[in-house]
Amino acid sequence: MKAINPFTGKICGIYPKHNEKEVNQIINQVDLAYKSWRASDCSERSAFLFRLGELLLEKEDWLSDIITSEMGKLKKESLAEVRKCAWVCRYYAEHAPEFLASESIQTESSQAFVSYQPIGTVLAVMPWNFPFWQVFRFLAPTLMAGNTGLLKHASNVPGCALAIEQLVEEAGFPENVFRTILVGGSEVKAIIGNTKVKAVTLTGSTPAGKSVAAAAGAVLKKTVLELGGSDPYLILEDADVQEAARLCAAGRLLNAGQSCIGAKRFIVMDSVYEAFKAELLRHMESARYGNPKDETTSIGPMARLDLRDELHEQVVKSIQLGAKLLCGGYIPDGEAAFYPATVLENVQKGMPAYHEELFGPVAALFRVKSHDEAISVANDTVFGLGGAIFTQNTENAKLLAEKGLEAGCVFINDFVKSDPRLPFGGVKESGYGRELSLLGIREFVNAKTIVIK
Ligand code: NAP
Repeated sequence: MKAINPFTGKICGIYPKHNEKEVNQIINQVDLAYKSWRASDCSERSAFLFRLGELLLEKEDWLSDIITSEMGKLKKESLAEVRKCAWVCRYYAEHAPEFLASESIQTESSQAFVSYQPIGTVLAVMPWNFPFWQVFRFLAPTLMAGNTGLLKHASNVPGCALAIEQLVEEAGFPENVFRTILVGGSEVKAIIGNTKVKAVTLTGSTPAGKSVAAAAGAVLKKTVLELGGSDPYLILEDADVQEAARLCAAGRLLNAGQSCIGAKRFIVMDSVYEAFKAELLRHMESARYGNPKDETTSIGPMARLDLRDELHEQVVKSIQLGAKLLCGGYIPDGEAAFYPATVLENVQKGMPAYHEELFGPVAALFRVKSHDEAISVANDTVFGLGGAIFTQNTENAKLLAEKGLEAGCVFINDFVKSDPRLPFGGVKESGYGRELSLLGIREFVNAKTIVIK
């Protein structure tokens, strides 16, 4: 498995893949570890997780360097990602005992309660775009629940996958409660079929989600799917346009636009359209791509050249079908997988920019005349991950958020962010199930009802 630095175009690591026999051996070891881990005390698990959080902070420079080399994220964003992982460790180390405590229910019997028990080894199929954060938001609740974890990371970030495995070991967790397997996506189906794997969580594209759900469905194993998104941002007539444009550009450019909850479609009321467009353009045009380790760079390279080229094709096809290019929209010279901040307007049905996820620094502008039209354009997508509304009328925005937008979360006057305390997940083809918060830790447990007559 080769990791290629998307800034230099050079190989930054080669790792041997695990063959089928090795994968089965690892699964057996993890299953064996589960037998004693499941019986461990919650306070014991918390202590290991607190230590893991500390280790992340102690080694943040080394870890963030691996992220930046393997997938091109700005060094400052990689550091922030590692710190957020430490936060999720602390969060579950503190709160899991209360989330997993038994709950009494009043019935005519003398006692009835629900006890939350682990289910075994959970397989995590993870993406490269937040190569630490996506794994830690699975790892922390999974291990706290008494389950064991098996990580199949994206093929372009093997160094991240192995570093996480090493950290868990260094934090003192019992051997084999969390292991990494280096395999490609095509090998996942067989792993799901292994009887020692009890459930699967996948964060990635919608096609990968469908494939994993089908394989898990065939052997009746539970799945949680966190898939793609094309988040709509509504800019209403009474929005603070300057602030909205600043936040929209920031939400679009974070991680070079490669975020499932990136701000992707900007649906703007007619009366503020021109003002918003000018402000958004100002921010997008001033965003410079460059060396991800340079403090002044605002957009690092995309994670892989093929992903950059696919994005450019979506832009070019949309322009051929009538979209207007306002800035960016070209492939820079050189080895790095750069793509400039790009803005398209006059985006219409039938164009890739209307229907598909734009997984890079490309913003699509839509002009609407009413709130009803804004909601209808926002929901005219297969995706339903996040969304945002910019307005001074927060009461109306709450109504639009609750009853209007088809999404797993809506932020008012801010861009969408994940937070260990808040449930995270989507509807429609953005997936199902929730990560983070109380809901996340309850996904992979047996809610066992116990009744005493
Ligand atoms: P991807 O191609 O779907 O890959 C994600 C993971 O799935 C990788 O480990 C990949 O392995 C594996 N995979 C791919 N095809 C598979 C298949 N048919 N069966 C089993 N496993 C398979 O996605 P990506 O390009 O890495 O990530 C970008 C996508 O993830 C975007 O759509 C983004 O919106 C979404 N995403 C969603 C969230 C969320 O929380 N909702 C968060 C981050 C990203 P290989 O690398 O070996 O192919």
